[in-house]
Amino acid sequence: MDWWVSMPKVELHAHLNGSIRDSTLMELARELGNRGLVHFPDVERVILKHDRALTEVFKMFDLIHILTTDHETVTRITKEVIEDFAAENVVYLELRTTPKKNVSKGMNKKSYMEAVLEGLRAVSTIEVDIFSEPNFDCPASAAIYARNNECASNGTGKKKIYVRLLLSIDRRETTEAAMETVKLALAMRHLGVVGIDLSGNPIIGEWLTFLPALEFAKEQGLLITLHCGEVPNQVEIHAMLDFLPARIGHACCFGEEEWAKLKSLKIPVEICLTSNIRTETISSLDIHHFGEVSDPLWIVLSDLYNSGHPIVLCTDDSGVFSTSVSGEYSLASSSFGIQKREMFQLARNAVNFIFAGNKVKQELEQVFDLAAKTLE
Ligand code: 5GP
Repeated sequence: MDWWVSMPKVELHAHLNGSIRDSTLMELARELGNRGLVHFPDVERVILKHDRALTEVFKMFDLIHILTTDHETVTRITKEVIEDFAAENVVYLELRTTPKKNVSKGMNKKSYMEAVLEGLRAVSTIEVDIFSEPNFDCPASAAIYARNNECASNGTGKKKIYVRLLLSIDRRETTEAAMETVKLALAMRHLGVVGIDLSGNPIIGEWLTFLPALEFAKEQGLLITLHCGEVPNQVEIHAMLDFLPARIGHACCFGEEEWAKLKSLKIPVEICLTSNIRTETISSLDIHHFGEVSDPLWIVLSDLYNSGHPIVLCTDDSGVFSTSVSGEYSLASSSFGIQKREMFQLARNAVNFIFAGNKVKQELEQVFDLAAKTLE
């Protein structure tokens, strides 16, 4: 097996609807085409086009959402996405998704999330740990914990993946809608929801619209990750950093002041190399803030890897950008001249930035200890 696939990995920035298999998207498009609900050749052309700038990516998401608007499909894509990450040895996955309403399908944010959870439970080929730190004051939580542990102690010998969920607030949403998502996340904490993400088209919406909901989420103990600096908006970047999120995603359009602030605050960054290049938020890997290679003797301010800033390699949208976590590690290694041993350490360091608690962190440490022996 390819070394990058064999290595255990942690994925912390993956959007559910961006991680759908092309084959599933085509099948769904064909079905809707047959029912006259979409024009299949047009949809096929969009799905198979792989170079999309940032604005086009959001048009692609609108199209994907047309194809995935019923509960059954949400369950199916969740199941497949988990199987795909597990197949490439992702041992811990934080999957994020925007809870959606669709009146014509009888869908509300809660039922959308229930369909996602159904997808987690539908995985049978691997063991999915969705919750291993129960709140014993909550009967539902304790029951799920017991069922999970029973599965673990069955000795099925199945491969295991830990999955935790982040609920995304879309930048098109109002303060009330954002608050509804946070309240849903709080109500689903016993089901593996660990945090909140702010995402969606970065040129839409104002930071102050989402701030009340994000502050409330933080007060209630949810961990927050923000899409930050995908477009040059220095005022928003500073406001986001001042909020002290637990992690940020992308950090592409930072200037000197923003790099200095990020580094002094030591906020971990979710790095999505292929996504940044495909969406043209970074023009080439030589100047990517993962680790600029233009002058190896000179660590530039934006160089995160060489300055030891906390980072984690992620896919963002493995389906939309035709990538994989293994592919991202291999790409970083070849682009920035980093040896396998150091890449293994980078993957292992990601355990420090997960939103699940200490028990899961300790178990993941053991997974990496074991892999360190076998991968030598
Ligand atoms: P979903 O939340 O529907 O499962 O996943 C797709 C959604 O994630 C998109 O509609 C968009 O809101 C968000 N998303 C996916 N990729 C990106 C990205 O690269 N940047 C931003 N800002 N949002 C994204």
